[in-house]
Amino acid sequence: MNDHKQEPILKLENTYGTLPPFFFATAKPEHVPNPELVLFNEGLAEEFGIDKEIFLANKGVDILAGNQIPLSATPLAMSYGGHQFGHFTKLGDGRAILLGEYITPLGERVDIQLKGSGRTTYSRGGDGKATLSAMLREYVMSEAMYGLGIPTTRSLAVVKTGEQIMRQKAETGAILTRTAASHLRVGTFAYTAKQGTINDLKTLADYTINRHYPQIKDAENPYISLLEIVIDRQASLVSKWNLVGFIHGVMNTDNVTISGETIDYGPCAFMDDYGVSTVFSSIDRDGRYSYGNQPAITQWNMARFAEALLPLIDENMDHAITICENAIRKFPDIYHGYWITGMCHKLGISDPIEGDEQLVNRLLAMMEQHKADFTNTFKALTMETLEGITLFETKEFEQWNVDWKKRLTLQKSSKEEVKSLMKQTNPAIIPRNHIMEKALKDADIYGNMQPIYDFLEALKEPYAYTTKQNEYSHLNEKPDTDYRTYCGT
Ligand code: AMP
Ligand code: MG
Repeated sequence: MNDHKQEPILKLENTYGTLPPFFFATAKPEHVPNPELVLFNEGLAEEFGIDKEIFLANKGVDILAGNQIPLSATPLAMSYGGHQFGHFTKLGDGRAILLGEYITPLGERVDIQLKGSGRTTYSRGGDGKATLSAMLREYVMSEAMYGLGIPTTRSLAVVKTGEQIMRQKAETGAILTRTAASHLRVGTFAYTAKQGTINDLKTLADYTINRHYPQIKDAENPYISLLEIVIDRQASLVSKWNLVGFIHGVMNTDNVTISGETIDYGPCAFMDDYGVSTVFSSIDRDGRYSYGNQPAITQWNMARFAEALLPLIDENMDHAITICENAIRKFPDIYHGYWITGMCHKLGISDPIEGDEQLVNRLLAMMEQHKADFTNTFKALTMETLEGITLFETKEFEQWNVDWKKRLTLQKSSKEEVKSLMKQTNPAIIPRNHIMEKALKDADIYGNMQPIYDFLEALKEPYAYTTKQNEYSHLNEKPDTDYRTYCGT
């Protein structure tokens, strides 16, 4: 079909497409037989000033399915590489197509991308498609993260394509419309540094600075500032993940954005029982991307970013290396600053002082020992409902509780202020694995989308502490130690 209608349903710009061909390949979404809109993000559409009525009335579904290309779009697949479990590989959008960039009413430029819309130059052996279940999961996860206040790509819609695709078995095919501040990744830089010219690298870095960090354009050395700012964004991002128990699962450099948004909700999951070695991804056998390893891996990924930038940092390579090493060395302290402040807030402590870290670590150690649910423990501390969790019945906890209460008296905040701070930082709801799985099954196998709609509604304001959210707090009958997640489904 791919006919270019005049109707400007979605007006797009294409600055990325003006970069040299080294950075992308033109692409064309495959025609799908029977598109059906199953999820549409009205809130996001409103925020973007997109005419949601057109989409809800099904007129826009052809665009969301890739059957109609907006007149202003120049669809392309981005080139990038990635260190997959440590080893660099040339990748690129193998199952995603960038339609273009949309300018929001606030003047923000966001990528609009179709995920699962067929093969591109970079698909290698893959079919370029995606399953309904995986796209619904990404939609729910990314919107949950947004609700939690964590920088993330967003999801505008999910469309069923009307075709079956082959995985372990035949599955329902779907396309997700993803939006992002951009899809520039550490892997884009790694690829350019390895396979492009220094001019390509400079073009990419300048494009990135212009798009994301114009405030550093006039810095003494903008490329050093770029490195520092991305390190800061990533440290902040990963601290936020750890503060809510989110495990990304596949922190390869192709899945690390330059904007500091969480991207690629493949094998990610929230942990139930607190445990630093928690891993859900079926392929992460050595725990490289385990909960406790996320900060260290981020530092490793930032070292790969620095490595890519080296030629721009200084003509003298030794000098450039020293500058980069110094920047990377600061990562643990930057991360720690974000983390300890966040952990203190979770305990109602507004400003960390000496001794607080010990208090935090004592609690975490007890939680790990007694396999306490991460979210529900902090929720119980917030609401002062210390029951139903074994940890609360121990002598050690009793002592800790006394010490914590004593610490709270050292600050000026009232009881209400403490509770308010805790409510703002301890979610009453997370997308729990067993609830997510059941909702996905209802949607995929039984065609019942209601549980997903209800789940999304409850996840919208996770700090609201509504009665409805309590329904989503219960744990699975058996612990989710055996729960496994998968990439690229
Ligand atoms: P991910 O695990 O989603 O980060 O994907 C890693 C790489 O594999 C990226 O280059 C993807 O575009 C590509 N990829 C994942 N699934 C498919 C698929 N079904 N067809 C083609 N390429 C894929
Ligand atoms: Mg990826």
